[in-house]
Amino acid sequence: MHVTVKNKFTRRARANGLFAILLSLASLIATLPAVTAQAGGEVAGTVTDPRGAVVVGATVTVLEVTAGVTVGTATTDARGQYRVANVPAGSYAVVVSAGGFREGRLDAVRVEEGKRAAADFKLEVALADTTVTVTASGLKPNSDPVYAGLRAQPREAGPGFTVNNLVLKRDAASFTLKSGELYFVQAVEGRHVAAVFVGDGEMTLTPPEPRERESLKLFTDAETLTEGFTELVLRFSDTTFDEVKASPAAAPGASAQAGRALELYRSNQTLARKQLKRNLDLRALVDLHSTSQRPGFFTAFVSGRRYGKLVFQIDPLGVVAGFGPNGSGSIGLGPEQVALASLGDDNWGIWTSFHMAGEYARRTANSNQNRRLTNILNHDLDATLRGTRLLVTDTVTLRAQSSGNRVIPFDLFPGLRVTRVQDAEGADLNFIQENKDEDGDFAVILPQASQAAKTYKLTVQYEGEGAVKDYGDGNFSLDTRSNWYPSNGDFQFGDRATFNITFRYPKGVTFIGVGSPAGPETDEGGMRVAKWSSGQTELAVAGFNYGKFKKKELTDADSGYKIEFYANASMPPEIKSYELERLSEEIRRGSSDIFTEDAAASSASTTGAAGGAIDDTRNAMRIYNVYFGKLPYTRIAISQQPYGNFGQAWPTLVYMPYSAFLDQTTRAKLFGSKFGTNTFFDYVGPHEVAHQWWGHTLGWSSYRDQWMSEGFAELSTSLWVERTLGRDKFIKFWEAQRKEIVEARPQTKNRRPYEVGAVTQGLRLLSGKTGATYQFLVYPKGAYILHMLRMMMWDTRNPKGNPDERFQAMMQDFVRTHFNKDVSTEDFKRAVDRHVTPDMDLDGNRRLDWFFSQWVYGTQVPSYRFEYSVAGNALSGRITQSGVSDTFKMRVPVYVDFGKGWVRLGSATINGNSTVELSPTPIPLPQTPKRVAIAALNDVLAVQIENVKR
Ligand SMILES: [Zn+2]
Repeated sequence: MHVTVKNKFTRRARANGLFAILLSLASLIATLPAVTAQAGGEVAGTVTDPRGAVVVGATVTVLEVTAGVTVGTATTDARGQYRVANVPAGSYAVVVSAGGFREGRLDAVRVEEGKRAAADFKLEVALADTTVTVTASGLKPNSDPVYAGLRAQPREAGPGFTVNNLVLKRDAASFTLKSGELYFVQAVEGRHVAAVFVGDGEMTLTPPEPRERESLKLFTDAETLTEGFTELVLRFSDTTFDEVKASPAAAPGASAQAGRALELYRSNQTLARKQLKRNLDLRALVDLHSTSQRPGFFTAFVSGRRYGKLVFQIDPLGVVAGFGPNGSGSIGLGPEQVALASLGDDNWGIWTSFHMAGEYARRTANSNQNRRLTNILNHDLDATLRGTRLLVTDTVTLRAQSSGNRVIPFDLFPGLRVTRVQDAEGADLNFIQENKDEDGDFAVILPQASQAAKTYKLTVQYEGEGAVKDYGDGNFSLDTRSNWYPSNGDFQFGDRATFNITFRYPKGVTFIGVGSPAGPETDEGGMRVAKWSSGQTELAVAGFNYGKFKKKELTDADSGYKIEFYANASMPPEIKSYELERLSEEIRRGSSDIFTEDAAASSASTTGAAGGAIDDTRNAMRIYNVYFGKLPYTRIAISQQPYGNFGQAWPTLVYMPYSAFLDQTTRAKLFGSKFGTNTFFDYVGPHEVAHQWWGHTLGWSSYRDQWMSEGFAELSTSLWVERTLGRDKFIKFWEAQRKEIVEARPQTKNRRPYEVGAVTQGLRLLSGKTGATYQFLVYPKGAYILHMLRMMMWDTRNPKGNPDERFQAMMQDFVRTHFNKDVSTEDFKRAVDRHVTPDMDLDGNRRLDWFFSQWVYGTQVPSYRFEYSVAGNALSGRITQSGVSDTFKMRVPVYVDFGKGWVRLGSATINGNSTVELSPTPIPLPQTPKRVAIAALNDVLAVQIENVKR
């Protein structure tokens, strides 16, 4: 795929969760009755400017600091006076903001019952504001004075300290600066946000959880990291400076290493901008402009003696870490706030990631937490495509999740250059967006601090090349599928919103949006105008496809969905040579895109295959509808993209690889016989269609939960295989999945995928040490987990003759309970627990803890040996389970075949490494079986299964 690694990973790897939104609202609601239930006291005062003249219209906010809740606001009147009444007795911060002035703040204002607390302010003029150039088309980017201060290259080092065994403790990590000098970079707005250490130091880190210690061990061979260093660059908004200043282990006045420290800081600035391409100054700005009581962030760039380039991060908003060799990409680890990453060539990866210690203590550490600053509610997009230049106005409606934030980060493709940002009244707003080839992250700066639960409307104008690519002959691709509009920041992913899209484009081309057309297309000023809308259904992401397509469509009376099919009329000649070369190279290296299941390519026309693809889609929609219930959409478009090696699904819109529509002969001719019959081409359609349920109707809360999206889409594909291609293909399908999980191969750095980690490690399974283990574990093992549940729920005596009735009931309950929301692994477990059958209830507590700890959170896979004998119509035998811990348990079914296919006889529970006899002994059968086997439908994931006849 032709997007940068950063886009690729950030597109899918960020987190979300709605429960935390509810939590923050709940805390607000819990506070408000207290305000009205008692009269309380009040805060009042006068706001003046430096000359003593009154300031009219200033906003005054009274904040309850520990909960971060606004208890009242007021605006100063014509006499510059304000009054906030009904404030419960307690201690508050009072914050004043007014255009052209620096924010005023008084902490620890005491309010007593029935009394007035005075809080007068004399505001300072925001000097730098006067230097801002206001042009007709809005403010210049990056002109916020505080930001300019953060961004500047310092000419000299700030205060220096000689340190002697200074210890900085940061959650599970500890930095000991044994001897040397520590220099702070000059303060901005009175706050130091960077420091450099030169000398002899050591960091130690012990992750709080056993599984995370195992992860660390993959990279370090030990469960605790101990790493010496000679240089350390710190970026922070926490209390590091005050801590050092107050420490007896730090003596002020160092100067010997000042030059070296300055040099190291500058090279760190270059690293961030040109290599990591992440705007670290913007992250600091979020906190410097914040009046909330959220703790600050802390990032340590460690030049380690042994491991090289390590980065330790604590971020209360959720960690976004460098990812890939040299940190060229990034991954959102939120809502986890603590992580250690390596940016090395060979050992790159996320070594460990977890929640802050306090969250484990309070038992609030879970992936449903939402740390977003805002919740985007709606996008009104008006876009024009001129050639490949996209010109867009997006009016974004969002709701503040918390109070006190002025900087709102968005994820917008940096090649799309923002020209203007305005608020609901049309006033121009400051914004940040650096060079498109460097750290071009986009953020808007509100003139005043956000108020929790308040709704804001921002209009963003932007344009640029690179979002849409032209491959010739009517073949186009939207390459920036999740960030061609300002989506919710880099902190977490998949913020569901409603979309209204007006799209203007040249005549003779077809546009396919998401949601549904909001009316017939029109002509306007020589262009086609299409209007699309998601209606009331929130979508996690919106995109479009575009090109010279031939269209077919049908409405399936059975499932009720309208299915549209768009194939390019012709294939540009460039793709042939270019794609073939690239693909064969990628397949050789085994390093193709993470969303690739395997691939080949071709040229030639693809429109001829439309019937087959429509049939496949119709069948898939019917089957998934029966198993999982109805979608929140009424239509789906299957469209071709000029890439041959991967498919991708957006709500109501599937991007199919053109190669999937070619017949086997054409594929084999162009790519060799091996790829002519590759199942990727047959299965990519049903897999992508299944993402309408897994990924869109139910999204994932964090990277820990993405396994359900890919795994359940694969399980869904297996249902399609079973129903349309038959049992044999179904068994082959699972056998292929099993091999991916248990076999070591060069793509996984010769590690057995299941031993590397749990499916809940998600994209972290990609690393310099573990190669592409992600593809070989998350897809197939994620699928196997659900397959094993299905097989345990399989009911051969179902009165309606539907052996899947219980499984379908469970899956539909899961979908219904979380309809059009994001889910965590724990949400899924709760759904499974609601449908426990006696066969699955191995602990006798109607809970599947045993199953989840082994298969979902664990890394064990057993082996089985079944020795049996048949004497006439009698079967006897014994099953041995091995290669597991003593607490491992599993239910293993026994099958016989009388000549009409596998029939399940029953199942046995096996604990630990042990052998069980079939009972009764012998088992009487109606006739002599042709075949006997355990787990004949690959019911249990196993390294090896031997069926031995005695
Ligand atoms: Zn997928």
